[in-house]
Amino acid sequence: MKPLRSCSAFIISLVIIVVYEARAGHSLSRKPDRGYYDFFYFVQQWPGAYCDSKWGCCFPKTGKPAENFSIHGLWPNFNNGSYPQNCDNLNRNPFDKSKIVGLIKRMQVEWPTLSCPSGDGFKFWSHEWNKHGTCSANVLNQQSFFQKTLDFKIKSNLIQHLSDAGIHPNDGFYRAEDVEAAIEDGLGVTPYLECNFDKEGNSQLFQVYLCVNKLANAFIQCPVMPHGRRCASSVQFQSFSRF
Ligand code: 5GP
Ligand code: 5GP
Repeated sequence: MKPLRSCSAFIISLVIIVVYEARAGHSLSRKPDRGYYDFFYFVQQWPGAYCDSKWGCCFPKTGKPAENFSIHGLWPNFNNGSYPQNCDNLNRNPFDKSKIVGLIKRMQVEWPTLSCPSGDGFKFWSHEWNKHGTCSANVLNQQSFFQKTLDFKIKSNLIQHLSDAGIHPNDGFYRAEDVEAAIEDGLGVTPYLECNFDKEGNSQLFQVYLCVNKLANAFIQCPVMPHGRRCASSVQFQSFSRF
């Protein structure tokens, strides 16, 4: 009887651990001290396409952002395409403004909120930290999560690489492969382009995904491409000045 009882106890414990790990989005094969993810998607949005989408946009309280890409987020991901999210179930490490005071001016410029009603950005940043940042907190604390994300924005300089290739936000249509090639020529890695589709079915450049290594110190080729709506072969690059 005794060996049978301890065997059942072992099986029950194993089931509890597996269920806990699965709910937390973890894999048992990963060591906790290395963080539960393999790489990041660094995602930037094009404000012209955000404003022209079905949900529309509101400018932040700090004013209309520049006609430039802005940050959506830095999202930990697994090599198999799945991703962890909301990794701080116990709310031990909630978003804390005081940890990023020195970054706020830059965040307002590079990471403005465009959703309605108008905000000051804190809700958006807090959402990004809670959903994504908490999953890489073993590697990047709050300050470095936001700092690194801002640095990747500057380093990527998408608008410049596109402009160098004659691609401008003038409502014109460009070949998706030329847009990708312009970014790849500038950064040495292949981006993933996500599009919105308007009522006429036009494919409009909405978000650009770049991959970043686990330590968040370099762009890398994406181990797996994301699931966002792939652009058609011809892509409209919308003007933001008319909004
Ligand atoms: P959507 O369903 O609009 O493409 O994405 C909604 C949200 O889910 C994104 O803003 C992001 O927070 C998350 N998400 C979507 N796709 C991915 C992905 O491939 N990797 C990660 N890490 N998050 C994603
Ligand atoms: P995600 O799609 O990353 O899970 O969610 C983004 C959340 O942040 C949504 O609740 C969205 O309303 C909010 N949000 C606030 N400002 C922005 C913005 O400028 N862009 C995007 N994509 N989401 C924003």
